[in-house]
Amino acid sequence: MSISENIKSLKNNLPAQVTLVAVSKTKPILDLEEAYKTGQRIFGENKIQEMTQKWEQLPKDIQWHMIGHVQTNKVKYMAPYVDTIHAVDSFKLLKEINKQALKNNRIINCFLQLKIAKEESKFGLTKQDLIAILKDEVLVSLQNIKITGLMGMASFADNKDQIRSEFLLLKETFDELKKEETLNLKLNTLSMGMSGDYPLAIECGSTMVRVGSAIFGERNYV
Ligand SMILES: *Cc1c(COP(=O)(O)O)cnc(C)c1O
Repeated sequence: MSISENIKSLKNNLPAQVTLVAVSKTKPILDLEEAYKTGQRIFGENKIQEMTQKWEQLPKDIQWHMIGHVQTNKVKYMAPYVDTIHAVDSFKLLKEINKQALKNNRIINCFLQLKIAKEESKFGLTKQDLIAILKDEVLVSLQNIKITGLMGMASFADNKDQIRSEFLLLKETFDELKKEETLNLKLNTLSMGMSGDYPLAIECGSTMVRVGSAIFGERNYV
């Protein structure tokens, strides 16, 4: 199937409350253009340089989502245009995003990444550290960021029960923290689910899925 057919059939199967992020990392501009022509406006990338090159070349009504791990010293390169950063995992990073957003006179949406997978290599915050960020009294002074969601990645496992329990842990944390609301904190998006596990993620309450290979095909890393 073609990229546009993949997007159409995916969208037909997504519940109305679920937003699709088309994960286009490693894929050429032509592929993104095909997705764009199908109506897709939200794209996810995980490398700042690649995302910036694509932003420069593509229509400006695209919402760019940074879905990968972000180093503090790289924030300045995407601050002029990035819509949402999915994998915020420290207060230091949040402060840097605020600083660079302020310089650009923008507000950048941030999702906090909760570590839900059992595997050691995954980035993300423990629930305790995540709550500590939300309770930090300095947070409310960061006027150029908005914490609008939580994000998580389940284990790369075949065990559906394990993946489900990881998603449910994230959903439970989301529901618990959704009640907290301040000037720059209002959780309305739960970013979980990828090509291999998005139906399960949706069953568990996801409102934003990040789908790459099921749209664009397998990635070749060279
Ligand atoms: C690559 C990536 C995805 C998409 O993965 P697919 O399995 O190709 O759908 C989703 N989320 C993150 C954080 C990624 O890095």
